[in-house]
Amino acid sequence: MSQKTPLLDHPLSDWPVLLSEGKTMPAYRSRQVAQWIFRHHVSDWEGMKNLPEEDRCRWSDRWDLSLPVLREERMSRDGTRKLLLELSDGARIESVLIPRDDRATLCVSSQVGCGIGCRFCRTADMGLVRNLSVSEMLGQIRLANRLLTERPIRDTLGEDSGAPFLSRVNHLVFMGMGEPLANFDTLVRALSVLTSPEGFALSPRRITVSTSGLAGRIRDLGVAGIPVNLAVSLSAPTETLREALMPISLRHPIRSILEACRSYPLRNRQRITFEYVLLGGVNDSPDQARELARLLAPFRSKVNLIPFNPYPGSPYLRPDRSRVLRFQEVLLAKGVTATLRTTRGEDILGACGQLALTPSPLPIKEPPTWKTIDSSMPV
Ligand code: SAH
Ligand code: SF4
Repeated sequence: MSQKTPLLDHPLSDWPVLLSEGKTMPAYRSRQVAQWIFRHHVSDWEGMKNLPEEDRCRWSDRWDLSLPVLREERMSRDGTRKLLLELSDGARIESVLIPRDDRATLCVSSQVGCGIGCRFCRTADMGLVRNLSVSEMLGQIRLANRLLTERPIRDTLGEDSGAPFLSRVNHLVFMGMGEPLANFDTLVRALSVLTSPEGFALSPRRITVSTSGLAGRIRDLGVAGIPVNLAVSLSAPTETLREALMPISLRHPIRSILEACRSYPLRNRQRITFEYVLLGGVNDSPDQARELARLLAPFRSKVNLIPFNPYPGSPYLRPDRSRVLRFQEVLLAKGVTATLRTTRGEDILGACGQLALTPSPLPIKEPPTWKTIDSSMPV
């Protein structure tokens, strides 16, 4: 028997040929397969009830549809769920499901570990283990959708917040483990399935790719023709400081990153997000805010301020709230839109920069706030 390979590593446009294997097959057959996978979250051939059994048997010998294995799951007080997933070679990654009002955002990993080495990031300590494949990137969304159908999530930040139950991922951020633009070809192929009407059919406007600033790849993403939102992690207003915090700056200085951003095509009212991790006493002074505002003045941009999320052994401190607000005020006064990211999932180390393989086992836990889903709740 031939070795099974993941069907989802192949572009959707190849599926009709791959699945027909030279036999005559109705043109709609591969579309039906896609519907089972992307709409009904099926992960085995037997589940595709309306397809001829003979085809399903043949395909199941050849094509693998399996999902990553959910090894551990942690639920935060605010409704965030951190998923520890195991891939077919035993490598482990994390995805984070974040409910926020009517949004179910999945924070997706693009690599096992990360080779960029930012000094304030927990994932950096792992180094780069390997790139993810297309099927592994997409597997995170498929699995999350499957979990959501079984148990929808809800923003539980405010008690009785009235937030709806969410049963499908409707926003994606490539802000999990890894540097997505360092796994560029795979990323673009995954984006193509995510946005294809026959795939996940997500609008590119609901997808954000976050990068530490690989200038050439930012340009390449711009020409790839999938107009996703671009987020650039800047985190320092000067070259010297950025080099100290993010060694990638030695190869991609701020000026070439901003130059690349200028070439990134923006639709009406679309803006580039600049993420800025605020590290107490390091990059959080009002002068540094002014310097940042000056750098970003030529851009249609917004700044997302992320107060540092500490983790065991981390060398930095989170600034006081007053300092964070002061930094934001300076930007706003200079006409730069600046939002403060409310930290989600912090109690389970599921917040930005805290993703790494947690050494202690995390039991699958029901949160104290979890309610039994009954038919009166929208699913
Ligand atoms: N590698 C990509 C995407 C993943 S990191 C990137 O760096 O953009 C996602 C975001 O988390 C980045 O903006 C990064 O700067 C931020 N981040 C990393 N470590 C953090 C920490 N300890 N606290 C807060 N934000 C952090
Ligand atoms: Fe990698 Fe992003 Fe962490 Fe930097 S912040 S080490 S690029 S995951």
